Formats: sequence, C-alpha cells, structure tokens
Amino acid sequence: MTRPAVLILLGPPGAGKGTQARLLQDRFGLVQLSTGDLLRAAVAAGTAAGKQAKAVMDAGGLVSDEIVIAILSDRMRDEDCRNGVILDGFPRTTVQAEALDGLLASTGQRINAAISLEVDDSAMVERISGRSTCAGCGEGYHDTFKPPQDGNRCVKCGSTELTRRADDRAETVASRLEAYHAQTAPLIAYYEAAGVLRSINAMAQIDKVSGDMTEVVETILN
Ligand code: AMP
Repeated sequence: MTRPAVLILLGPPGAGKGTQARLLQDRFGLVQLSTGDLLRAAVAAGTAAGKQAKAVMDAGGLVSDEIVIAILSDRMRDEDCRNGVILDGFPRTTVQAEALDGLLASTGQRINAAISLEVDDSAMVERISGRSTCAGCGEGYHDTFKPPQDGNRCVKCGSTELTRRADDRAETVASRLEAYHAQTAPLIAYYEAAGVLRSINAMAQIDKVSGDMTEVVETILN
C-alpha cells in the first residue's frame, strides 16, 4: 500500500504558499492544511485556543507551539487527509518540526518533500498588502498580480465578498518577516539534513511558479 503523501511548503509570509497549496490540492487531490486558516477559524469561533492566539496573530508573532501542534494533529486525523496533505505554514519552529516527525512516525508516514519557496524580503510588503480572499470559497487574490473579476468578483464562485486579513497591514508584515527569519528559516537546514528539501524560485509569476512546483511534485510522487 502506498502511504499518503506529506508535502511541506516553506517560505516567508507572502511567498505564495497558500496560492500554490491550493493549486496542488486541485491538481493532485491532496488536502491543503493551513495552520493560519485553522487558527483564524478558531479565533472566529471564539474557542479557548482562538482567544489565546488572537493577540499574537494581530501582532505578527508566532502562536505557541502547544496550541498549533494540537490544532494541526487534530486536523490530520480527519478522514479527508487519508490521500495526503500539503502543509502550508506548518511547521514554523524546530519544536513543531520535531512534533510532526513524531506524529508521522506514529502513523507510519513520512515527509515526501519540504519545498522551499525562495523570495526576496523586499518584494514581500507589496505582495502581502495587496492580498484579499474570497469569503465564499477561500480563493486568494492580489490587487496587481491576480485581480478578481470586474474589480471585486471571485472568478471561482462569483461572490463579491472579498476580505483582507487584519495582519496584512504593512506594520505587522515586518514582525511576521522577523518571526520567519528567526524561527522558521532554520527549518530549511533541518529538512536539507533530512534529505527532503527542494527549492523553487518563487519570485516569478504565479503560473511559472506553479509549473515548476507541479514538476517537482510529479517527480516526488511518481
Ligand atoms: P499564515 O496564514 O500562515 O500567514 O498565518 C497567520 C498567522 O497565524 C501567523 O502570523 C501566526 O501568528 C499564526 N500561525 C500560523 N501558523 C503558525 C504556526 N505553524 N506556528 C505559529 N503560529 C502560526
């Protein structure tokens, strides 16, 4: 029996992890697991974890490993994850990476690849501050790079309710980039040492990046 694939997308905020994860989800039938989305849902639902996470997220810091690991491991037990997952925004610390190793070992799974989306910090503020998300289906947009139809209509589901994330303000982006470099960037070496690191130039246009990504994932899964 083939084991369900586990792909990790690494990269700073604004690198395009969410966009690429959704494309891979559609193309390969894997499930996108975004800890950012799971946390935003917990905040919206007013759960205990959501209440603790909110202030940290608003400030652009990292939510505690304990909360994030609990939320992610719960979600990974869901039925729809049995065909494989794309982890988008997890792990973000070495503690989380080690917890993931433990979780996968207990279910006989392994990481197929950690794909690093390489981008320049200088481009990130522009990329992030133009972002919006469709409230109907979750499709992501960007004012310049991927505008919605007629200025405000989702191309996928037709909704005109597009929302902007509270933490996408320029002031918060600097803290998020700082958290990335201090706590998440060391995972590139972690996965290189584990022999599963792949790198992609994510400065190109979305279609080019997704073409490169598809090629890498096809090689990994075949
Ligand atoms: P994202 O949607 O991935 O940009 O995440 C939004 C925010 O959620 C981050 O800035 C963090 O505050 C929090 N967050 C998401 N994933 C994690 C994680 N793996 N560890 C800690 N905090 C996280």
